[in-house]
Amino acid sequence: MENIIEVNNLKTSFFTPAGEVKVVNDVSFKLKKGEVLGIVGESGSGKSITVLSILKLLGNTGKIVGGQILIDGEDIVDKDNKYMSTIRGSKIGMIFQDPMTSLNPVFKIGYQLREPIMKHLKLSKSEANKKAIEMLNLVGIPDAKNRMNCFPHEFSGGMRQRVIIAMALACNPKLIIADEPTTALDVTIQAQVMELMKKFQKDLKSSIILITHDLGVVADLADNIMVMYSGSIMERGSVEHIFYNPKHPYTKGLLRSVPNPDELVKKRLIPIEGQPPNLLNPPKGCPFSPRCPHAMKICLVKKPETVCLEDNHEVRCWLVNKDMKMG
Ligand code: SF4
Repeated sequence: MENIIEVNNLKTSFFTPAGEVKVVNDVSFKLKKGEVLGIVGESGSGKSITVLSILKLLGNTGKIVGGQILIDGEDIVDKDNKYMSTIRGSKIGMIFQDPMTSLNPVFKIGYQLREPIMKHLKLSKSEANKKAIEMLNLVGIPDAKNRMNCFPHEFSGGMRQRVIIAMALACNPKLIIADEPTTALDVTIQAQVMELMKKFQKDLKSSIILITHDLGVVADLADNIMVMYSGSIMERGSVEHIFYNPKHPYTKGLLRSVPNPDELVKKRLIPIEGQPPNLLNPPKGCPFSPRCPHAMKICLVKKPETVCLEDNHEVRCWLVNKDMKMG
C-alpha cells in the first residue's frame, strides 16, 4: 500500500539570538492510508514541531535543515508558501489544540467553513454553503443551517472543536494532523471529540497523525506509537509493543506516570524525575541520561543508534544494544 506521507531523517532548527536550537533530530516515519500514528512525549519533545515542519508553519526563526518530507511521493521541503497553501486544507487537514486560536473571532463560522471549500474543491458559493452545512451536520452541530451565521464565541469549547473537525474534513484530505485536539477541553467533551475522530477514521479511512502528551488518548485510536524525547524518536512500535512490551526507560516512565483504569488496586503514580534538557545545550550522549535510572558510562558520551528489535518495533537505548549483544 502506498504511503500517504513519508518523512526521512527530518531535522528542524530554530535560529535564536542565543544560537541554533535543534528541535527535531533525524526523525523518520511513514504512514499508509487509514493508519493512525500517535506521537507522544512531554512538552518540548519536538512532537509539535515535527508536524509543524510537515505543514511548513515554522515562522521566521524555524527552518528545516535536513531530510525529506514526501507527500504523494513529492518532496515538499523546498516548496514555497504559495505551494504549501494549496496543500494545507486540501491534502492535509489540521486540528489544533485550542479551537479559539484556529478560528477567526471576527468572521462567522459559515464564512470560515465555506472559503477553503470554495478554494480547494472549486465549488460555487451556494455549493460550498451546502457542503459546509452538510459537514456541520456530520460532526453533530444541531441546527447547522442557522449556526452558519454565528460567530465562534457563540459556540462552546466542544462545539468549536467540532467545527474545526468539520473544517479539517471538508476538503477530503488524505492526511489529518491533530495536535493535542482535546487538551483544551473538559473531560466529558474530550471523550466526545475522541469518539467523533474515531468514527471518522473508521468511516472515511482517514490517515491521522495524533499528537498528545496523554498515552491514554492514543491507546484507543492509534495503530502505531512514536515516543519522542528531546527531538528524537526514542521508541516506535505498535500500540501492543508500546503498552505491553515497552523497552525504553523513557516509555516505561511515561506509562508509570499515567493512571491505569483497569488496575483493581490503585497504585501511586510515579513521575519521571527531572526536566527535559535545554535544547540549546543538550547532553552529549543519550538526551535522557540526566533523568535515566539506568544510565551507564557510555550513555553519557555517546548517543545510541536506533535498534530494530522485531518487526515494527524500534528502540534507541544502549541498554537494549547491550541486551541484544548478550542475548
Ligand atoms: Fe538510559 Fe542509557 Fe538507555 Fe539513555 S541510553 S535511556 S541513559 S540506559
